[in-house]
Amino acid sequence: MAQKRDYYEVLGVSKTATEEEIKKAYRKLAIKYHPDKNPDNKEAEEKFKEAAEAYEVLSNAQKKAQYDRFGHAGMGGAAGGGFGGGSMNMEDIFSQFGDIFGDESPFGSFFSGGRGGGGRRQRKGSDLRIKLKLNLEEIANGVEKKIKVKRHVACKTCSGNGSKNGTDLKTCQTCQGSGQVRRVQQTMLGQMVTSSTCPTCSGEGKSIGAKCEVCFGEGRVLEEEIIPIKIPAGVSNDMQLSMNGKGNVPPRGGVAGDLLIVIEEEPHEVLHRDGNNIIYDLYVSFVDAALGTSVEVPTIGGKAKINLEAGTQSGKILRLKGKGIKELNGYHVGDQLVHVNIWTPKQLSKEETAILEKLRSSENFAPQPGKSDKGFFHKVRDMFS
Ligand SMILES: [Zn+2]
Ligand SMILES: [Zn+2]
Repeated sequence: MAQKRDYYEVLGVSKTATEEEIKKAYRKLAIKYHPDKNPDNKEAEEKFKEAAEAYEVLSNAQKKAQYDRFGHAGMGGAAGGGFGGGSMNMEDIFSQFGDIFGDESPFGSFFSGGRGGGGRRQRKGSDLRIKLKLNLEEIANGVEKKIKVKRHVACKTCSGNGSKNGTDLKTCQTCQGSGQVRRVQQTMLGQMVTSSTCPTCSGEGKSIGAKCEVCFGEGRVLEEEIIPIKIPAGVSNDMQLSMNGKGNVPPRGGVAGDLLIVIEEEPHEVLHRDGNNIIYDLYVSFVDAALGTSVEVPTIGGKAKINLEAGTQSGKILRLKGKGIKELNGYHVGDQLVHVNIWTPKQLSKEETAILEKLRSSENFAPQPGKSDKGFFHKVRDMFS
């Protein structure tokens, strides 16, 4: 698939466009590229689908927020098990139209029973939500996981329609298969036609003779499925990724809902995450700080050696470049910041006390902070500037 275009660009609206502006822009494109107006025009069909997909995301507050933050990679898409963004099929698109065009639809035939005798709204199954625990290493590098999900899938015996062997199916007598019943009433203003969902078949348009023996007429069965998913590097706690079509299918046919994966970050014992940086508190004795030493510190990728110069001050921050977390959907990699803490002994032997007493009045031991020894305030300010 070619590089996906930005959804805002597709609809020709700005990032600050209101709900109404987004709707209006989509309506215009849907009419322009509608297949009925452009028969056998592949390009128009692609444009039509592209606009529908953009609208689907930008008209949904949650999906829009996710897209604004993470771009296409934050969107669903079962294809390949990644998060490439799924494209909609025509059924999905037409089923949106009722909300967009309302009564003034230029394509009325799609709701009132046209288009191949179907005309019923495609029903969507429920979404599934699972929590996925990730450790810091997995978050830093991205990871491929296989998750076990119990979901409703179409019954194979009856092909999801719920009838015995999938064949004992009749057109609903009440609505003649349209799923809608119309009532004509005489009112003061003249004849009024109202239509409502058929009470006999609940809008499905069909009635089942004998029920399928596997799913007992429900048209779906619970199945355990192992789903491979690619988690990109840089995700964070509570972030939600979605995979289209990996949720439940509704009873007796329809489109499956989505699988929503909520990231749960497992805290690391000693490494702390701050955005894409990692913070580590290092404790050294004042002897090591005074004489200088080399120490090993833990990082996400294993141990790293750092040298402390003689005369290292408490509170010094050393930066291990590129030892942090890779930015989500980007190229930048964070750093690990090593915060040096000088450890003061809490108890001393007689001998140790004697040695230190000798040093107490030594000139070099008296604090003499200079311009280059920044205090806490300046260090913090520098870190964030
Ligand atoms: Zn019916
Ligand atoms: Zn069945």
